[in-house]
Amino acid sequence: MYIRVSEIPGGGLDLFASRGKASIPRLLEGMDPAPLRGLRLVDADLLLTVEGGDIWIEGSFEAQGEGFCDRCSDPVTLRLGKAFQTFLTPKSRDRAAAGSVELHEEDLDVGYYDGTGVETNDILWEQVALELPLKVVCSEACRGVCPVCGKNRNLEECSCVAGEAKGPFEILKNLKGKKE
Ligand SMILES: [Zn+2]
Ligand SMILES: [Zn+2]
Repeated sequence: MYIRVSEIPGGGLDLFASRGKASIPRLLEGMDPAPLRGLRLVDADLLLTVEGGDIWIEGSFEAQGEGFCDRCSDPVTLRLGKAFQTFLTPKSRDRAAAGSVELHEEDLDVGYYDGTGVETNDILWEQVALELPLKVVCSEACRGVCPVCGKNRNLEECSCVAGEAKGPFEILKNLKGKKE
């Protein structure tokens, strides 16, 4: 949803409170949530305030993602979410002016906008993308699939463990043994 600075009232604009929450589940459509297979926003909040041409955005989101475990291939459902603050200053403004704003708060992202308005979907997506996992695992303790017999080691012990332990040193030892 594109919001012009001129549309933001003095008391701020609570985007989803004023425009309705019906659009939220579709906001991430078309975005690539890799390494997840799918990602849907469950809830979101965005409060936009303008102060001297700068836009302050306070928001939060909750999303549900689906993917497959990188180790055992089981389907994984996970929840992402966080609260964030973003500060946008017009691109044209010189750095000195922007630098005079005191920015101490953690979790505050500072960016630029064209001075006219902001695409709020992009703002949300930026925050969601930061929360995407690097790898999908069903659990940190997942033992994965045995590379030898293909059994899911979370469900079943297999006897291939010794074979898998064959590291470079063992191979070297075997080579030496043949030479002697
Ligand atoms: Zn797994
Ligand atoms: Zn095995």
